[in-house]
Amino acid sequence: MLGFGPGIDAALAGILGLLLGSFLNVVVYRLPKMLERQWAAECAELTGAPPAAEETEPFDLARPRSRCPACGHMILWYENIPVLSWLALRGRCSACKAPISVRYPVVELATGGVFAYCAWRWGVGWTGAAWAGFGAAILALALIDWDTTLLPDDITLPLVWAGLIAAALGLSGTTLAQSLWGAVAGYLSLWLVFQAFKFFTGKEGMGYGDFKLFAALGAWFGWQALVPIILMASVIGTVIGIAMKLSSKLREGRYVPFGPFLALGGLAAMVFGPAAILRTVGL
Ligand SMILES: [Zn+2]
Repeated sequence: MLGFGPGIDAALAGILGLLLGSFLNVVVYRLPKMLERQWAAECAELTGAPPAAEETEPFDLARPRSRCPACGHMILWYENIPVLSWLALRGRCSACKAPISVRYPVVELATGGVFAYCAWRWGVGWTGAAWAGFGAAILALALIDWDTTLLPDDITLPLVWAGLIAAALGLSGTTLAQSLWGAVAGYLSLWLVFQAFKFFTGKEGMGYGDFKLFAALGAWFGWQALVPIILMASVIGTVIGIAMKLSSKLREGRYVPFGPFLALGGLAAMVFGPAAILRTVGL
């Protein structure tokens, strides 16, 4: 505990979350592009083709500095303050007035909300920090999967390890055995569904990233939570998938990724606990 009392602790954690949310926006936007460049470079190496000129410029989470995608205006530090800058600029680039997606402040607010919630519920300490980290990683995965239908190993695999370590340290409320078998059963169950679906339909219904994300949720909540989480993810995913089909919002030839719904199930399990989810879906 910081000792300022739960309200102030939660407010301070919320501000930290807003700042981290600003960084999450960068991760969500850049990590898939970094992976694409890496694959392109590996392909070029195999085929002996010279890399494209733009691919030789450094591109990572820190470089180059953020610019307006419409006019190239370099984003100044005071234009980069979570939520406040977006409000002050009324959601437009200060140079060319191109609209800035409302998603940026929403992601910052969501991360701030997760951090404030964790500090309020578990206090400022290792347990609260562990769950806040879990929440931030889950948010990033949900957004990246929604945008690109990718769940990068750079986030899913550390999340599996973090879940096992949190269990071993007694931070996540599951025993190490429950956590270990949760990770194993999480991965294997979706892998089996994937193989069966492929056998009967010849199609691939989800990606290997989904198995790893479900393994991570198993590691954080224990094997007992897997059924409630997958039920919740399936119910939300089906409702949203049908809604998108009906409103013809579904991109042509694309499918709705499952990861964001698994992630939502994970967040719900963190807030309400797996047992409450089972009651909600009517079991
Ligand atoms: Zn601009």
